[in-house]
Amino acid sequence: MVRFAAFSLATTALVGAAAIAVTAAPAAQAAQAASGGPQYGTFGFDLSGMDRSVTPGDNFYYYANGTWLKNTQIPADQSSYGSFNTLDDLSHTRTRDILEQAKADPSSKIGRAYATYLDTAAIEKKGLAPVKPLLNQIKALKSKAGYPALASAIGGSGVPIPFAAFVSPDQKDPNKYLMRVSQAGLGMPDRDYYLSADPKLAATRAAYEKHVAAMLTLAGEPNAAARAKAIVNFETKIAQVSWTRVESRNASKTYNKMSLAALEKSAPGFNFAGFFRAARAPVNEVNVVQPSAVTGIAKQIKAAPLGVLKDQLIVRSLDAFSDVLPSAIDNESFSFYGTALSGTPQQQERWKRGVDYTIGSLTDEVSKIYVSKYFPPETKAAADAMVRNIIAAMNRRIDALDWMSPETKAKAHEKLANFTPRIGYPSQWHDYSKLRVVAGDAFGNELRANQWRRDDNLSKLREPVRRWEWGMTPMTINAQANPDLVAITFPAAIMQPPFFDPKADPAVNYGGMGAVIGHEMSHHFDDQGAKFDVHGRLSDWWTPQDVAAFNSRLDKLDAEYSAYEPLPGMHVNGRLTMGENVADLAGLTTAHDAYIASLNGAAPPVIDGFTADQRFYLGWAQVWRRNYREANLRQRVLTDPHSPNEYRSNIVRNMDPWYKAFNVQPGQKLYLAPADRVRIW
Ligand SMILES: [Zn+2]
Repeated sequence: MVRFAAFSLATTALVGAAAIAVTAAPAAQAAQAASGGPQYGTFGFDLSGMDRSVTPGDNFYYYANGTWLKNTQIPADQSSYGSFNTLDDLSHTRTRDILEQAKADPSSKIGRAYATYLDTAAIEKKGLAPVKPLLNQIKALKSKAGYPALASAIGGSGVPIPFAAFVSPDQKDPNKYLMRVSQAGLGMPDRDYYLSADPKLAATRAAYEKHVAAMLTLAGEPNAAARAKAIVNFETKIAQVSWTRVESRNASKTYNKMSLAALEKSAPGFNFAGFFRAARAPVNEVNVVQPSAVTGIAKQIKAAPLGVLKDQLIVRSLDAFSDVLPSAIDNESFSFYGTALSGTPQQQERWKRGVDYTIGSLTDEVSKIYVSKYFPPETKAAADAMVRNIIAAMNRRIDALDWMSPETKAKAHEKLANFTPRIGYPSQWHDYSKLRVVAGDAFGNELRANQWRRDDNLSKLREPVRRWEWGMTPMTINAQANPDLVAITFPAAIMQPPFFDPKADPAVNYGGMGAVIGHEMSHHFDDQGAKFDVHGRLSDWWTPQDVAAFNSRLDKLDAEYSAYEPLPGMHVNGRLTMGENVADLAGLTTAHDAYIASLNGAAPPVIDGFTADQRFYLGWAQVWRRNYREANLRQRVLTDPHSPNEYRSNIVRNMDPWYKAFNVQPGQKLYLAPADRVRIW
């Protein structure tokens, strides 16, 4: 997760802005913004959201956010709600304005796509007719021999199939593309949902089987209950051979380049050559991400009755296209994926889904307009500068490490020098001229957009690596580290309050956006990112002694996070969340250094009774405030590489300046003796 912000010559300018804010009387947010103050509170932090009855050393997250957490209801159409969602709502309403305007222009593809998506009466009227050709194609399959070609076609239409095949840079030779084949085939978010004895997960499993049966019934299929049971049994066998998420995030174990012939030999139950031939994909080599799982899934496909394989594709097709099919299907899909899995009571309004759909289909056509309206060039310049400050701070931290050898340090410096920061929006746009958008054909538009995306991905097999291409949109509230490109990426929309506010105190901006920049940068040096060298190649560039010293620090952080228990009996998985926890730890530490350096020796002011260091850490805690529905929290603990936000916020317990800033003492719940604080970068 991420965010971004930037300030260029800005650090001093920001201090000035903050000084003005100090003298302003506290007022409501809107009034503040209207009068030229920061959007949050008097200096960029929402003081009214604190709970000062909580001792910071007992729970910093509640101290900083407790009143907000108590008073904030999760909207009925959300599974959780916090700072990221506030900005996401803003991205949605801005994009809606863009699309509403585009609707008036008959030549606008995005306007036509959006208007057609909104016309639910037309969707209702067509019933199942639009999806019938897809379903008939599945039902027409007469023998197992034809399954790989069918799966290839259905998968290419945007429907999940038992393998995920996707072209991305070769991790050991990142100037070339390579086909990746990964495990897939589960209709629930993780193997644990199929295999765990936890009664809550068993209940979700039962709800899933009911959902699968309901979809078969809606498709007009008889014997739905028995057929649903057979699908769930098949998927349970896939779950049994699937790798865990901890195994799947291991960059070394998931690099297994082999010839297509070698893959066919190692996974004889599935004709991979036929699968790629059907997609007209020129594949001779593949990276098999989870070899034993791919072998195991191929074996299960071979063992499964043909009817079960077909039924699974039917159900997946209806779920994949539920948003452009009649409401009976849409509602059924939501009742499982929205309510049972995430605890969300209510489907989002159609316009919000239409915004998401249009962004997903014609991403750059929307992005171009968005950045021209909502991303001033000054913000990009400011971001560039903040990135430079954070990189400089990281260089100083590397020099100061007591556990790393000079050889490895020299290479780490080289890697930092080779970073490409990507800020706001990509330098090049995709061309959608071949994508047909037909008024009144919501299903067809979605289908063609999915096929366009697949074809575009496969076309990379014939192209040099697109260094300009992003995995996020400028409207996304997130940021990214791209190990093979040695890049860090910050979309336009995250560079806003509370992450970054040009009118806020710089300490708060460094605790927010600065830490997000530090976080993304640190991903290149987390437990997996550190395996990629100066050129983004997966390679051993550390001395063995340095690896050992690094690993012992990781073990300590694992123990710290695995001790957290967000739900009764359910602990954070310290290994699954390792990369993100390292990035939070290193990112916040580095951002603090960069903030101190930005002061150039001047003493920062006390504002509203808070010192600069206090404001820095409060700014960090503020971006993480979030309420979760229980089912959503459970799903995240099982699947999300990020720790729940309370523990992300409380990473501060590893940082000496935080102890000093809030006078944290032994005996308080977050207190760690200096020797127990984890220090990595
Ligand atoms: Zn991250």
